[in-house]
Amino acid sequence: MTESKEQQNPTMAAYLIKPYHLFHHQGRSYVINVEGMSASTIDAATAEVLQQITSGEILSLDSGAEDHLKKLGLLVDVSKQPPKVKKDINKDPMPVVNLSLFLTQSCNLKCVYCYGDEGKYGSGGNLDEKTAFQAVDWLLEQSGKIKKLHIGFFGGEPFLNFPMMKTVVEYARNRVQELGKDIEFNTTTNATLLGDEQIAFIKEHKIRVMVSFDGTKELQDAQRPFANGQGSYDNTLPRIKKLLEAVPATPGHAVIVGATDPKIVKDAMQEIGFAEVSVVPASQSLLAGEPDTTQSARDTQETFQSLEQEADTWIDLVGKRDDESLKKLKNKSGLYHALLTLLHNSKQRHACGAGLGLAAVSCAGDIYLCHRFVGRDEYKMGNVFEKGLNREEYLKSPTTESAVCAACFAKYYCAGGCKHDNAGSCGSIATPAEDICRLKCRELELAASIVGRLGIEERAFLVKQDIFPPKPCPLDF
Ligand code: SF4
Ligand code: SF4
Repeated sequence: MTESKEQQNPTMAAYLIKPYHLFHHQGRSYVINVEGMSASTIDAATAEVLQQITSGEILSLDSGAEDHLKKLGLLVDVSKQPPKVKKDINKDPMPVVNLSLFLTQSCNLKCVYCYGDEGKYGSGGNLDEKTAFQAVDWLLEQSGKIKKLHIGFFGGEPFLNFPMMKTVVEYARNRVQELGKDIEFNTTTNATLLGDEQIAFIKEHKIRVMVSFDGTKELQDAQRPFANGQGSYDNTLPRIKKLLEAVPATPGHAVIVGATDPKIVKDAMQEIGFAEVSVVPASQSLLAGEPDTTQSARDTQETFQSLEQEADTWIDLVGKRDDESLKKLKNKSGLYHALLTLLHNSKQRHACGAGLGLAAVSCAGDIYLCHRFVGRDEYKMGNVFEKGLNREEYLKSPTTESAVCAACFAKYYCAGGCKHDNAGSCGSIATPAEDICRLKCRELELAASIVGRLGIEERAFLVKQDIFPPKPCPLDF
């Protein structure tokens, strides 16, 4: 990323060059305006000027280049810059509104990439009623004036403690009603225990379910066997199909290990009937302390090639105005989030809500910054039976507090990455792994290469067809 150059250049002394990222793809040049989170295609002359600025060679800009850079929002009059106000985020901590509640710390599967010590997350055990009710009350207290709350049921496999799920839903519904608040529930399940009763309950209480499943029989049996080593595909598939019949919008989530082609997995998941599919590389296990075997999955040629092909497909389908195929592409896209970020010029200060609006509570009532950290004492923020929440470290945005992220052109898209991945790969929540950075930066470049080529009419088509939501009004809050 190129930073301000005003002191190097006498003719540009009154101007500031805003941070930008120049790159070339398939014979075209693009620039990302880092602070504006916008992307544009640029001509060879402008690319040349930016290249010279990057290398510190340029001494003066002709009026044509000056106009171009102003249009790109990269050249601004220093005298018109508002003074910088540094907000102390510690003084205004975000209320916790989203609780990941562990119903059990045990699992009936033994997934090869499990980061939770075969679902036990250290101590194991089941959530009891006293702790469950205290966790709900803690959430209500933490949420302050915020009305809309969320509880996600986690495990291990949460349906191993289905009776407690029912108890918590009833208790939380009564409590929010007393306080004039509203609550939504969600859960992540391996689907192995879903029967008619569970599916009816999910439907009745509008519990948003995410199914973890690895797509093909070969992958599911090898990567997600039962604890006794038996494959789980044949048992689970009919249950997933029943769930999809009852709740067709249920999304599926798959994990890839090694050099598995993400496209094969996405296609298998869509074939099963999942309308929405996410595929991610396995996360490094924090609890097991194993070496990072996941690097190849994030860094493989297959992953990068799949993204490159996807970028070409977006351009092709938008050109043909093929809304049906675009909707299918959106539901298994690896670039959608980056595209949305650039189309809305939105800037993320944090990669997720961990330790901010989101917290996880273990079966013992201990509070962690998110579900993946449960069982790791160094990431414990408190306990629902005690006062106080120790989370100052998690309130700091990597976009300003991490030297490597602050200097990165993808910082407002990636915002420092998953804290759990960072801790697993590099030993610190604030130190990102190089392979993740390469992937995030490439995702943003490829999204920029699409957005940079979209005209007004094409953007309007994507909104009209409900492929992207309209850009929110900046005055709405
Ligand atoms: S984690 Fe890597 S890609 Fe993400 S903002 Fe930080 S340096 Fe950039
Ligand atoms: S830290 Fe990682 S695992 Fe935890 S909520 Fe954030 S993105 Fe998800």
